[in-house]
Amino acid sequence: MAEIVIAKGREKSLLRRHPWVFSGAVAKVEGRARPGDTVEVVSAQGRWLGRGAFSPDSNIRVRIWTFDQKEPIDTAFFRRRLARALAARDLPGIPPTARRLVAAEADGLPGLIVDRYADFAVCQFLAAGVERFKAEIADALMELSGCAGVYERSDAEVRAKEGLTPLTGPLRGAEPPDLVEIDEGPARFLVDVRSGHKTGFYLDQRDNRRLVATHASGRRVLNCFAYTGGFGVAAALGGASGVTHLEASAPALELARKNAALNQVEHVPAAYLEADAFARLREMRDAKETFDLIVLDPPKFADSKATLERACRGYKDVNLLAARLLAPGGLLFTFSCSGLMEPDLFQKVVADAFLDAGRDALILSRLSQAPDHPAAAAFPEGRYLKGLLLRVD
Ligand code: SAH
Repeated sequence: MAEIVIAKGREKSLLRRHPWVFSGAVAKVEGRARPGDTVEVVSAQGRWLGRGAFSPDSNIRVRIWTFDQKEPIDTAFFRRRLARALAARDLPGIPPTARRLVAAEADGLPGLIVDRYADFAVCQFLAAGVERFKAEIADALMELSGCAGVYERSDAEVRAKEGLTPLTGPLRGAEPPDLVEIDEGPARFLVDVRSGHKTGFYLDQRDNRRLVATHASGRRVLNCFAYTGGFGVAAALGGASGVTHLEASAPALELARKNAALNQVEHVPAAYLEADAFARLREMRDAKETFDLIVLDPPKFADSKATLERACRGYKDVNLLAARLLAPGGLLFTFSCSGLMEPDLFQKVVADAFLDAGRDALILSRLSQAPDHPAAAAFPEGRYLKGLLLRVD
């Protein structure tokens, strides 16, 4: 096995069990290692630090598999990690067949995302290491999850950073239908596992959907960045008096309509607006439209430190528009899924937006991702979704 020697003094994060070795922390590579190969990571003084997956094309040069020197990286290793991940989801409130089974670093499987939709495990292999062990992972998933099929959705852009090309298609067992129906408890949703975003659905917002349902009664709801209508369906089930979905993607909106029908909430007046949210919110503001509850769940605006400032302006703009559209006593559920945006910074950006809008607001709650999307204590970056529930006067 090749050895990755860490630059002097750069081993601190590894000693704290943070699983990433950045290129700048590597002093040298001893021996030959290809992408995905398992390598030993040692300090400048020759102390063994960890064993991980080599990723020569990525700025994250090694992702650690284990901090236990006696643990080999083999078929049994992946079975153990997957069994542990699956067991960690057996908690009240996490639906058995609509849950994230594997959340990458949080489950000691860097680069691997697995979501369960009904009888199908839908996977993203996002790093060279998990790509190398795909067969072992797919076999173990098939066996341990009890799913009828394992389907791959490795078409995320981040794969390019790992020197990997996009791949999608069935890996094991039965092929999923075009739309898989999931049961979230209060609601059912159709998930497009073949061409929906990521693996097809935003399971991370489950608890927040429930919270929206709790507060929706009698309110006129704007579901902005609606995707397939998750928050809107929740609001309608919670007794909203009307739901407006605003979303740029026509196929997503099409599925939002189907999801409303599936949940038998068609008696709740609904509008499906296919538009750029920024432009349409401005038009709504100019027309002096108001809503009693607004959900803002935009896509990731920041994917690197360099884009964080621009992202802050994007979040500020959209929250400012929402702040202006809220009727007195209105509620705003506002989110950011950019991991780089710290919760305190997000809160400041939202507070600035309300200040500019000239509206006093109370922060009622801080929101986050559902507990089947955990973050390892040693890897706080895993906590990417943050949100606020605010009330305006
Ligand atoms: N709230 C959704 C997930 C939202 S993901 C849920 O809970 O399921 C972000 C969504 O914003 C995507 O569906 C994307 O198509 C949409 N989007 C991205 N940019 C947009 C824009 N400028 N205007 C409107 N929608 C946009």
